[in-house]
Amino acid sequence: MPSVTSLQSLSILVTDNDQRMRESLRDLLEAYGMQCSVAENGQQVLELINHSHYDLVLLDLNLTRVNSLQLLRKVHNEHPDTDFIVLSADAGFSKDRSISQLGVLEILAKPFDPRILLELIKNISENKHQRSEKSDKCSQLDTLSDVEKTLQELEAIIHKEELHLTNDIINNSPVVVFVWNNSANWPVQFVSENVVNLLGYTANEFITGKVNYNNIIHPDDIERVNSERANNRGSMQFLHKPYRLITKSGMVKWVDDSSTCVCNEHGDVTYYQGVLVDVTQRELSRQKMLKNQRSLQRLAHHDPLTGLPNRILLLDRLKQSIKKIKRIKKCTALLYIDLDKFKEINDSLGHNAGDKVLKSVAKRLLESVRAMDTVARIGGDEFIIIMESVSSIEDVKKVAEKLNHSLQQSVNINTHELFVTSSIGISLSPDDSEDPEELIKKADAAMYRSKQQGRNTYHFYHPAEQ
Ligand code: GH3
Ligand code: MG
Repeated sequence: MPSVTSLQSLSILVTDNDQRMRESLRDLLEAYGMQCSVAENGQQVLELINHSHYDLVLLDLNLTRVNSLQLLRKVHNEHPDTDFIVLSADAGFSKDRSISQLGVLEILAKPFDPRILLELIKNISENKHQRSEKSDKCSQLDTLSDVEKTLQELEAIIHKEELHLTNDIINNSPVVVFVWNNSANWPVQFVSENVVNLLGYTANEFITGKVNYNNIIHPDDIERVNSERANNRGSMQFLHKPYRLITKSGMVKWVDDSSTCVCNEHGDVTYYQGVLVDVTQRELSRQKMLKNQRSLQRLAHHDPLTGLPNRILLLDRLKQSIKKIKRIKKCTALLYIDLDKFKEINDSLGHNAGDKVLKSVAKRLLESVRAMDTVARIGGDEFIIIMESVSSIEDVKKVAEKLNHSLQQSVNINTHELFVTSSIGISLSPDDSEDPEELIKKADAAMYRSKQQGRNTYHFYHPAEQ
C-alpha cells in the first residue's frame, strides 16, 4: 500500500452519480489524508473546478460517452492544468487515445481494486512533484538566462552609448581620425565624420573612394609626404612635418599628421591609423613670423639702397672664403672700389641722382663677376668684391680692368648722360693676409694708391703683383 505521507494534502475531486460510490471513494481517499470534494454530475464538476484547484479529478460519469468527452474538453479548455483519472466501465472509452490530450492520465476499468487506484494516485502525485521541481528549476534557469540576456542587452546599449559618446567626442573635436590601408594610393578605410569640417569632403566620399586622399595633398608637399611615408614604413609611430591639403572649396589647410602603423601577427603593416589636426592658423602665423625674421635678417645683412650684401655679410663671406681656399689651395682676391669724384654728382644733380648712379654701379659690378663671387656695398660710394677660388693673378687683373671699363661707360640719369670712373685696390689672401679686416685695410690702401695715381685705375696691395 502507498504510504500516507505521499498522498497527504492532495486535493481530489470525486465524481460519480452513484452516491454510495462517491462517498466510499471519498472515505477511502480521506483515510489516506487526501482532501476530497464530491460531484454527482458534469455541471457540479464544472462549478467546483471553477472555484477550487484540484490535483486530480476521478471521473466516473454515468453519462454517455459523448457527454463525457464534452465535459473533458470543456474542463481542459478552461483549466488545462487539470488531471483526470477516468473510472470507466465503457471499454470503447478506454481505447480512445485522443483523451490523453485532454488531461486524462489514466483510465481504470471498472470494477477496480481500490489499492490499484491508490497506487495510481501516488504515482501521479510523485510524477507531478518531480515535474514541478523540474519546472521550478527550468523557470529558475529561464530567469537566469533572462537576466543574462538583459545584462547583455544592457551592455550592448552601454557599448552603443559609449560608441555614441566616443563618436560625439571625436566629431566635436578638432582632431580628425583616419585609418588608411597599407596599399598604393592610401585608400581610406575609416575617417571620422568631422572630416567634413576640415576638408569639406564627407567621410563617405573618402570611404567610397570618390575622393583620393593623396590627390588632395598640396602638389608642392606630396613628394615630401611620400618620402616621409616611405622612410617610416614599418616604424610604429611616425610624425609628418605639417603639410597642406586642398579642401573641396579649393582652400589650403595645414595639418599635423600623426600616425601609427598597425601590424598583423607576422609583423607586416596592414594599415595606418592616425589623427589630423588643423594647424592652419598656427602655420600661417609661423610663416609670417619667419618672413618677418627673414626680412629683418635681410635688413641686417644688406644695403637697403642697392640690395647688395653690407659690411657684416661681406665679412662673413670673406671669412668663409679664406677658410675654403686653405683646403683647395687657391686664393681669394678682395677688390676695394671707390667711385671717383662722386660727390660732384650729388652736388650738381642732387642726392637722388647720386642714388640712381649707385644703383647702376651695383648692377654693373654684379654683371662683371661670376655668380660665386660677392659684391657688397660697405659705405657711401665704396664697394668690395670678393673673388672666390682664384687660380691666377691674371684673372684678377682681367676682372679689375673689366670693372674699370664697365663703370666708365655713360649712365643716363634724368636725361643727363653721366660718366663715372672708379679707383680699385686689390689684396690677396692668403698672401697679403688671412684676416678679413686686415685684407680690407690693405685693399683700401691699394685703392688709395689708385686715387693718388690719377684715378680710374687699379692697384694691387703687393707691388710685385702689378
Ligand atoms: P674721391 O674720388 O676722392 O673718392 O672723391 P669723392 O667725391 O667720391 O669723395 P668720397 O668718396 O670721399 O665721397 C663719397 C660721397 O658719397 C660722400 C657722400 O656725400 C656720398 N654719399 C655717401 N652715401 C651716399 C648715398 O647713400 N647716396 C648718395 N647719393 N650719396 C652718398
Ligand atoms: Mg669716392
